[in-house]
Amino acid sequence: MPAPSDPDLLARAVRLNDDWFGGMATPESVRWVDNQQSRWGSCSPGDRAIRLSRRLEGMPRWVVDYVIVHELAHFLEPGHDESFWAWVNRYPRAERAQGYLLGWSDAWNMEAPPGPDRDD
Ligand SMILES: [Zn+2]
Repeated sequence: MPAPSDPDLLARAVRLNDDWFGGMATPESVRWVDNQQSRWGSCSPGDRAIRLSRRLEGMPRWVVDYVIVHELAHFLEPGHDESFWAWVNRYPRAERAQGYLLGWSDAWNMEAPPGPDRDD
């Protein structure tokens, strides 16, 4: 299955915003980036842009969606505090996705995905 294009990613992010954030974390752009060797995703809350590591490309949809949800939550809460995780954990597979990414982080020497019990 080919990786979703950037417009596909944006459409998914818009959908995730509707489903889990009540439309309050509207994204403007989502794109794959090659130059992100140590992080799974990042965002610029100012222009509501999300960047995803290309290493996510072949991963299950629910894992990629989790990373998008994580970045959308940063549009509402910049840090990784309790209110941030309250948003992220509305996504039902958040914990499973963190575990999935943690395994790959070790394999690829990437930063572990931040979790409620870890700082990053
Ligand atoms: Zn984060």
